[in-house]
Amino acid sequence: MEVRLQKMIAGTGLASRRKAEQLIAAGRVTVNGKVVTELGTKVDSERDHVKVDGKHLTAAQPYVYLMLNKPKNVMSTLDDPGGRTTVKDFLRGVSVRVFPVGRLDFDSEGLMLLTNNGDLAQALLHPRYHVPKTYLIKVKGVLTDGEIAELERGVKLEDGMTSPAQVKKVRKVEANSWVEITIHEGRKHQVKRMLETVGHPVIKLLRIKMGPLVLGNLGPGEFRFLTDREANALRSVV
Ligand code: URA
Repeated sequence: MEVRLQKMIAGTGLASRRKAEQLIAAGRVTVNGKVVTELGTKVDSERDHVKVDGKHLTAAQPYVYLMLNKPKNVMSTLDDPGGRTTVKDFLRGVSVRVFPVGRLDFDSEGLMLLTNNGDLAQALLHPRYHVPKTYLIKVKGVLTDGEIAELERGVKLEDGMTSPAQVKKVRKVEANSWVEITIHEGRKHQVKRMLETVGHPVIKLLRIKMGPLVLGNLGPGEFRFLTDREANALRSVV
């Protein structure tokens, strides 16, 4: 079957479609021995020999999706130049290279999606899709109804107003309390900054939902592959 060259390269898991387009434009891709820089070029993976940087593309890998409950004090990236523990250290037995979709702060916990489907990962992070993310948060003090309404409407951060959010009180623990917040964007330290703005610094932050995915009873440091139903639900978000 003929497909566009960038789609075929992305399909092997080597690069996202956009990165594949850059590889093609940079003259790093050959088809049957000839450099091809035309992005629309159609190829047949059974007939044509495609090489990137002189290396044959290996057969397409099936897409893999998994969720990890990132523990506190773990980097949400695959590598850390400072040698700290990263999410990769928890993926024992996973032989496919998967990449985290988005970030969680070093001291935040909870649901992280990892996949080798670069196109889907990129789309899920795109602001256009407003993928909802829900956090369970312990804050200093107790939010008033007025503060909740303010957070729900949007608060002013240094990088602009936040878009509408949903906020629920969960429970009070002595002088502090737990709240649940759903946001539809993903700026750096967004939830912490939002709560700081209304005078309730974050003590603990756990992501419990992302789009159709629910952390459920997955323990800290545990991961599991998504079910077909979950993976399909994820694909239908974008
Ligand atoms: N918001 C934050 O402030 N930190 C996170 O880790 C995730 C969302």
